[in-house]
Amino acid sequence: MPSAGKIAFRPSSRDNNGQRVLTSAFYTLGCKLNQLETESIADGFRAGGFSVGAFGPGADLYVVNSCTVTSKAEQKARRVIRKILVDNPRAAVIVTGCYTQVAEEAVAALGDRVVPVRLDRKDALLDLPLFIEERLPQSAGLLPLLAEWKAGLSGVPGDRFRFTPAEFSFHSRAFLKIQDGCDGSCAYCLVRIARGSSVSLEMPEVVKRVRELEDSGYAEAVLTGVNVSRYKSGAADFPALIGEILSATDRIRLRVSSYEPEMVDDRFLAAVADDRVCPHFHLSVQSGSDAVLSRMRRRYSSARVREAASALRSVKGDPFLAADLIVGFPGESEADFADTRSLAEESGFAWLHVFPFSPRPGTQAATMSGHVTESVAGARAAELGSLSERLKAAYVGRWMGREVGAILERPDTSPRIAVTDNYLKIALTEADDGTSGTRIRVRITSPAPAGTDADAAGAAI
Ligand code: SF4
Repeated sequence: MPSAGKIAFRPSSRDNNGQRVLTSAFYTLGCKLNQLETESIADGFRAGGFSVGAFGPGADLYVVNSCTVTSKAEQKARRVIRKILVDNPRAAVIVTGCYTQVAEEAVAALGDRVVPVRLDRKDALLDLPLFIEERLPQSAGLLPLLAEWKAGLSGVPGDRFRFTPAEFSFHSRAFLKIQDGCDGSCAYCLVRIARGSSVSLEMPEVVKRVRELEDSGYAEAVLTGVNVSRYKSGAADFPALIGEILSATDRIRLRVSSYEPEMVDDRFLAAVADDRVCPHFHLSVQSGSDAVLSRMRRRYSSARVREAASALRSVKGDPFLAADLIVGFPGESEADFADTRSLAEESGFAWLHVFPFSPRPGTQAATMSGHVTESVAGARAAELGSLSERLKAAYVGRWMGREVGAILERPDTSPRIAVTDNYLKIALTEADDGTSGTRIRVRITSPAPAGTDADAAGAAI
C-alpha cells in the first residue's frame, strides 16, 4: 500500500457540508505536563479545521506525545507507533515529547511515515494545522508537506509556554503550565536532560491565565510543570504565586501537581492552607532509605518526608497524600527497602506510585554498581503495590459518609464519575447530566460498584 505521500492526498472524511476534512488522533504518554501539551495541540488542530477524534484507527494524521521517564514508557511509545503504522497504511505519524528529544533517530527509524518533532519544538505543532490548510491543496501529499514544514523549524527557537488550550478535549478540569525543565541532578533522571534547565512563566502572566480560565467557567486549574516546587519569577516562588493567584481570583480552585518534599516549608503550608487549594498532594519521595536517597542525589532525608506529610495533614485535615517511589535502585538492600515500606506505611499516604528502577542512558545511575535484579525489583514493586491498595482502602474508609466538593467528569461513562477535591473517584449513584467540569457536592456513601475504576460510590447533594 503506497504511503500517504505517493498518491494525491484526499482527506479520509467529510464534514456536514460534504467537504473533505482531515482527521487527527492523539496518544499521550507520561505526566500531566504532556497531557496539557497534547490538549493544546489538539485544540489547535480543531481550530485549524481538523476533526479531532478519540484515539483509534482511521485518522489521517496521528500525534504521539512520548515520555522517557522509564524504558517501559519508550517501549510503549514504539508499540503504539508501530500499531498505528500497521492499522493505518496511509496515515502520517508525528512523534514528539521527551523520547523524541533524547532519541530522535531511533524514533525516525520506526518507519518512513514517522515524523519526529523534538520536544523543544513541540510548540510548532500549534501552527501546523494552518500550514497544512494553506498548502495541502497544492502539495504532493501530507508527508512531503510535513517534511517541508519540519525543515522550516530548524534554527527557530521554541516557546515552552504557548500551550494554552481554549478547550480541553480529554480532561474535565483545566491544566496550566507554569514551569518547565529542572536544575536538579538526580542520578536516575533523564527528564532534566530531555526538558533542559528550569524556566518559569512570569507571575503576572500566570495570574492572567488563571483568571481567563476562571472567566471561561473552569472550576479548577491544575498547576503543572516538571518541578513546580522550583517555580521562580523574579523574587516570587511557588508559595508567593499561590497567594497572588488566590488574591486575584474569586472561586477557581487550585490543584498542585507533583511537589518536592524538601520544599514543603512554612510558607508553602501557609499558602496551601487556603480552602481553595485542593487537599491533594503528590510528593516525589522516591525512597525511604537515607542511604539510597543520597545515592539518588535527592535533596532531603526520610525524616524530612515524614515531617512534610505530617505538616500537610496539620494544615489540610486529612488530605490525599500520594508518593512516587522507585524500587530496585542500584545498591538498594532488603534493609533499605524495609525503610521505604515503613516510611510509606507510617506517613499516612493514601496512594503509592511505584516504579521499578529503569536505568536511563546518559544518567549517573545507569552505570552505578549494586545492580538489583528485575525479579527482586518486581517483587518489591508488587509488595508496595498491595500496600498502596490497603492504604487507599483505609483512606476511602475514613471518608465514608462524609461530604466533599467534586468535579463532574465526562458524561460518556456509566456510572458517571466525579473526582473530589481530595482526589477520590466517586461513582454517582444517580444519573447526572451536568456539564463536564461542573463543581458539585457529593456524599460518599458506599464502596465502589464492581467493574468500575471508582474509589467509592456517592450521591450528589
Ligand atoms: S527533581 Fe530530580 S527527578 Fe525531578 S525532574 Fe528534577 S532532576 Fe528529575
